[in-house]
Amino acid sequence: MNFILKNWVKYYTKESIKTLKIIAIGSALVLTIACVKYKPAYKVTLAGDTIGFIENRNLIEAKIEKYINDTTGNIAFREISELPEYEFKLINREKETEEKNVMLAVQNMTTTTYRAYAVTSDGEQKAVVSTQEEADSIINEIKADLNTEIDLKLGIVEIYTTETNAYSKETATTALNELKVAKVTEYETKKAEEERAAKEAAKRAYSSSRTRSYATTATSAPSGNLNGMQLSIPVNGSISSRFGSRSASRSTIHTGLDISASAGTGIRPISAGTVIYSAYKGSYGNLVIIDHGNGVQSYYAHCSALYVSVGQSVDAGSTIAAVGSTGNSTGPHLHLEIRINGSPVNPQNYLY
Ligand SMILES: [Zn+2]
Repeated sequence: MNFILKNWVKYYTKESIKTLKIIAIGSALVLTIACVKYKPAYKVTLAGDTIGFIENRNLIEAKIEKYINDTTGNIAFREISELPEYEFKLINREKETEEKNVMLAVQNMTTTTYRAYAVTSDGEQKAVVSTQEEADSIINEIKADLNTEIDLKLGIVEIYTTETNAYSKETATTALNELKVAKVTEYETKKAEEERAAKEAAKRAYSSSRTRSYATTATSAPSGNLNGMQLSIPVNGSISSRFGSRSASRSTIHTGLDISASAGTGIRPISAGTVIYSAYKGSYGNLVIIDHGNGVQSYYAHCSALYVSVGQSVDAGSTIAAVGSTGNSTGPHLHLEIRINGSPVNPQNYLY
């Protein structure tokens, strides 16, 4: 019994091994054929689209990670909205994989933000360059020959931009030069306008002062103005001796103005005032002195008659005395003296 069982087992084991052998050989054959015809690969999809087949997933993942984290040059950072998905496949050995296309598709899905430098004027961005050194150098160039009165209020700010990292220094310089020219023109126009307005104002002041002086002369010629006081001539006549002259009849310099006129001609004061003297006084002969205030006094000498008395107020039109030749005099005339704070001044500065 034991013998029969042993043989039966022996038989079946033999048959099993035979079957296994056939399976193994068959499988090896299939595998060999498969390996000859197919290769293992990954189908890569990005945002639902197939972007290609690759052989080495680890390699492509490392490449993508390196690309996303790249911060060389002016790159501030990179962002990708979605990462690729991988699916294992056997593909025809003849089919070429597409690592390059996969990388391109990834790059297209990535947003790169660059670091750049904006040159500002009064806080407003006027130009962009790639480096701070370029921004500095442009500012120095712009300021080099700029009138110090023109302040462009230039500054530099670091900015982040997704546009491009290729900012040309030339373009930036051109933009800032345009700004400079505009500011200089604006400044010069303003300056010219100020000068023109100043000239205009000076012209107006000059012409109005001329108008005023003509008017003064025209209304009461010949008359004058002394410390704002209007003066009028005391008698009509001709000048026979000027202020400051010397003559044989005098040992001193002439302190007044002599006006020849017929004896008895009425004398009017040069301006309204108060009589402070009306009497005979040595070489002056008959003399009237009128005080006009503000330190101004007038003397009327050699009179033939005196019509006023001390303390009397007189106005410009009144007759205060008559022309004569009393005192140190060689013929009828009025000796007119004007004193300011006691000192005789030339009457012809104001009259005749
Ligand atoms: Zn005199």
